[in-house]
Amino acid sequence: MQIVILTGAGISAESGLDTFRDAGGLWARYDLADLATPEGFARDPSLVLDFYNHRRRAARKATPNPAHAALARLQKQKGERVTLVTQNIDDLHERAGSDPVIHMHGSLFGALCGACRTRWPAAPVMRPADTCPACGAESPRPDVVWFGEMPCHMDRIMSALAQCDLFVAVGTSGAVFPAAGFVDLARDSGAKTLELNLEPGDRTGAFDTGREGPASVLVPAWVDKVLSV
Ligand code: NAD
Repeated sequence: MQIVILTGAGISAESGLDTFRDAGGLWARYDLADLATPEGFARDPSLVLDFYNHRRRAARKATPNPAHAALARLQKQKGERVTLVTQNIDDLHERAGSDPVIHMHGSLFGALCGACRTRWPAAPVMRPADTCPACGAESPRPDVVWFGEMPCHMDRIMSALAQCDLFVAVGTSGAVFPAAGFVDLARDSGAKTLELNLEPGDRTGAFDTGREGPASVLVPAWVDKVLSV
């Protein structure tokens, strides 16, 4: 059985990282257009770099929770039969032992040159005057996907969705496309679909089945069930 798992901010919530759309989430306190668009970055690079410096610091301090650990256990046992795709830009899946992790929205721990697109490891604190190691331009940005930009690894994800027997979404509101449409693609390929979420999301009606509750409880229970058959 081929399984594709899509995770969102909800899986890292119990590790202390902010979600986006929940009450008190990041977008309730900041303006999306200022912090997560190419236009916002062009207007005020210092503000945007500071925002991601803050999130990088928070992610470094956070530790994986039982939901990350359970998915790593599943991957270790099932190998290539599990494809783990995350919208998260933290590294909690990796630190729990997951490998590989498909980061469709990039990573907080990468830097990207706005001039020549070279990538390098992000410094703990990125500054507008940081220079690209390849071309020397002072045009550093976090290696994350902003609204209006194309997510990463889409060919790999589409191919996994086309071949999967089970699609599971964990802790994602279903508000951001294309990830919110993966459930439709998986269903069209004949897969069963399952949502594990704290509360219903925008796409809950598209799933065959769902369970509501914290990821740290639902995910280990689901993994135990999969590994017991
Ligand atoms: P979202 O904030 O829109 O939705 C979070 C979802 O998680 C909601 O459905 C909520 O009910 C659920 N949730 C909250 N606490 C939970 C818990 N303890 N257990 C299970 N579910 C819980 O997040 P999203 O759908 O991932 O939004 C998409 C965008 O948010 C992505 O672009 C992603 O890059 C970005 N994001 C990433 C991080 C991160 O890297 N940790 C954090 C915030 C947002």
